[in-house]
Amino acid sequence: MEKIRGFYIGRFQPYHYGHDSVIKHIAEEVDEIVIGIGSAQLSHSPNNPFTAGERVLMITHALEESVSLPFYVIPIEDIQRNALWVSHARSISPPFNAVYSSNPLVVRLFCEAGTEVISPEMYQRKNYSGTEIRRRMLAGEDWQSLVPPVVVDVINETDGVRRLHDVSGSD
Ligand code: ATP
Ligand code: MG
Repeated sequence: MEKIRGFYIGRFQPYHYGHDSVIKHIAEEVDEIVIGIGSAQLSHSPNNPFTAGERVLMITHALEESVSLPFYVIPIEDIQRNALWVSHARSISPPFNAVYSSNPLVVRLFCEAGTEVISPEMYQRKNYSGTEIRRRMLAGEDWQSLVPPVVVDVINETDGVRRLHDVSGSD
């Protein structure tokens, strides 16, 4: 029987429990999960501190613990042409049937391309957001409780908080 694959795209700067709740929801509806790491070429900046490879590690280790389905983690670089972005994403991902996203641009682009889009509910969005986690890292506040322990390990291994500080400074 043909496999139903769900596609979930984000920048995952970093991967957090909000993402994890969406993944668990997707896992109930599909046979396999494709996770696209958006803006894969970006790293070492205040809004995008982690490399694609570091994000692959975060997501792979987190999903090994949270889902039992097969999953594929695919870095996807930006192209400066939104009208072609869906074809671009499809050209480097395993084939997928349904898209899970609440990002308005992603929803719009896939709808125009005729792909079914499901927008999962937000899970405690105030705290579980990449922006809030990066803010807490810079402020020296607790961010560790917002991400799975394996993500804390990857960030510590790469000296991620110090990197975020360094790339947020000015000369
Ligand atoms: P940033 O603040 O850096 O944009 P983010 O938390 O929005 O980070 P993204 O990687 O941009 O994370 O998000 C990927 C997808 O996950 C988006 O569709 C986003 O709406 C969704 N998402 C983010 N946080 C949550 C959450 N707490 N609950 C449910 N979905 C979420
Ligand atoms: Mg976002």
